[in-house]
Amino acid sequence: MPLVGIAKLAAEGPLIQAKRRVQYFEIAARSILNRTKPNMPFQWTINPYRGCEFGCKYCYARFTHEFMEMAPSDFEDKIYAKAAAALLLRLELRKVSPKDHIVLGTATDPYQPAERRFERTRSILEVFARETGRYLGITTKSDLVVRDLDLLGEIARRNVLCVSFTITTLDEKLARLLEPYAPRPVLRLKAVEKLSNAGIATAVLPNPVMPGITDGERSLDRLAKAARDRGAQSFGGGPLFLMPSAQAVFMPFLEEHFPRLALRYREHFDRNAYLDKAYKDKLRNVLERIRDRYGLASGPIDYRPELWVQDEQPTLFPLE
Ligand code: SF4
Repeated sequence: MPLVGIAKLAAEGPLIQAKRRVQYFEIAARSILNRTKPNMPFQWTINPYRGCEFGCKYCYARFTHEFMEMAPSDFEDKIYAKAAAALLLRLELRKVSPKDHIVLGTATDPYQPAERRFERTRSILEVFARETGRYLGITTKSDLVVRDLDLLGEIARRNVLCVSFTITTLDEKLARLLEPYAPRPVLRLKAVEKLSNAGIATAVLPNPVMPGITDGERSLDRLAKAARDRGAQSFGGGPLFLMPSAQAVFMPFLEEHFPRLALRYREHFDRNAYLDKAYKDKLRNVLERIRDRYGLASGPIDYRPELWVQDEQPTLFPLE
């Protein structure tokens, strides 16, 4: 059957670099801003790449490679940099209300190793650095974000910006198993500190919280304390969910490293990709207790930047 749509674009994308494990391609993108479903806390997402080299075992975004007729495991080996990302953003932003919240890095890490060479995320930030009065969130597991401190500072002067770091555990060995190619948790915490010290609002997210693996209150508490000590203002947290494409990688991983949990996970996730309400309620209570202990918020803080267009008052004095 002939390939169509995004699968055709992916098949035609030129190979631009290959490392031992990973191949990089460029892919034409029709648009760079994606509208989210109603009731989401943000209205638009931007993903400068397709695929993510960090290869987290639980990654829910593997389904995005299925659109290109690829296996879930290709998600971490075949990385596609979106062409003309900044140009598309400049054109598309004109149609986006300043009240809308935009999040960069929901289905790929915008600071994965590809970014060192292709700088698609940086080009996107250059566009935001010329905007005023917008709401932008960035989600990453990488300390490479510190490279863009100049642009982040400029964006934060004119827009509400929060950089969220995903840290599932402080346990280095466990992190290496779960997120084999992501920067170590200690490096992520150092990045939290550098950004916070530079006046950028930061959050730490222990997402996804995995039953029996990362959901112990003591380890979540340690993480929240470390986040608070490095200057993070908020500590979110949501439970694991496993769509079939994520299960294809996570279940074999579980059987190998956590055989004692594998059967219970299978019993649940074969029926439902989401954990039940009772688990979610328990987790919410644990996280609330922890946040109270450290004075952390549950989500990004809504602050007014130094230059905020909505606060400008019309003058009574005739200037022209
Ligand atoms: S960093 Fe995020 S997008 Fe990348 S593999 Fe991990 S969970 Fe997936």
